[in-house]
Amino acid sequence: MKYDFAAIEKKWQDKWEECGCFHAEIDHSKPKFYALVEFPYPSGAGLHVGHPRSYTALDIVCRKRRMQGYNVLYPMGWDAFGLPTENFAIKNHIHPAIVTKKNVDRFRSQLKALGLSFDWKREVNTTDPSYYKWTQWIFLQLFKQGLAYKKEMSVNWCTGCKCVLANEEVVGGVCERCGSEVVHKVKSQWMLAITKYAQRLIDEYHQDLHHPLRHTFRRYLYGYFAGASAH
Ligand SMILES: [Zn+2]
Repeated sequence: MKYDFAAIEKKWQDKWEECGCFHAEIDHSKPKFYALVEFPYPSGAGLHVGHPRSYTALDIVCRKRRMQGYNVLYPMGWDAFGLPTENFAIKNHIHPAIVTKKNVDRFRSQLKALGLSFDWKREVNTTDPSYYKWTQWIFLQLFKQGLAYKKEMSVNWCTGCKCVLANEEVVGGVCERCGSEVVHKVKSQWMLAITKYAQRLIDEYHQDLHHPLRHTFRRYLYGYFAGASAH
């Protein structure tokens, strides 16, 4: 018998959605398990194989934890602000909000078709004003504490687009988008003083981190903040 995956998988995926069997519950009697993957940037190209690779690995852990009686929270969201969307919107004269929505819809339907057990009731989107009001709030707290500051920095400047380019957008010394000359320009940039917490991070990880990779991580931290090289 031929396995009709399109019909069979869709049937069960709809059932899972209907019964909400992957939703985290408000139930304090169960042990909690929170699994978080890096939220994807929803591009127009759809998922690449690297996305399901990490989501599937954690999906297996989550399904096992649910069967063991844990109250599992396995959310999905979209890290949806980004230059590729803005550039696509400019080029095709479509509002970035419309492009973003289309890309998110595509990603969501692909992830659902894979049958991953995300709690879709808790989906977040970084371009949603009810979400980014909190990232803005966090920025203000950092600013008030002197941890967010402006600094003059040399950046890649496209003489055609009249905007700052990421290193990846400069190909062979010219702008990837319009082919114009890219120059280095000193501009005032926002910075976060993360190194002010370097020592505390090292000290506390030293005591509390119980992870198989803790030694690697610690060496990395030392090397990163102290400028030493670790082997
Ligand atoms: Zn350009």
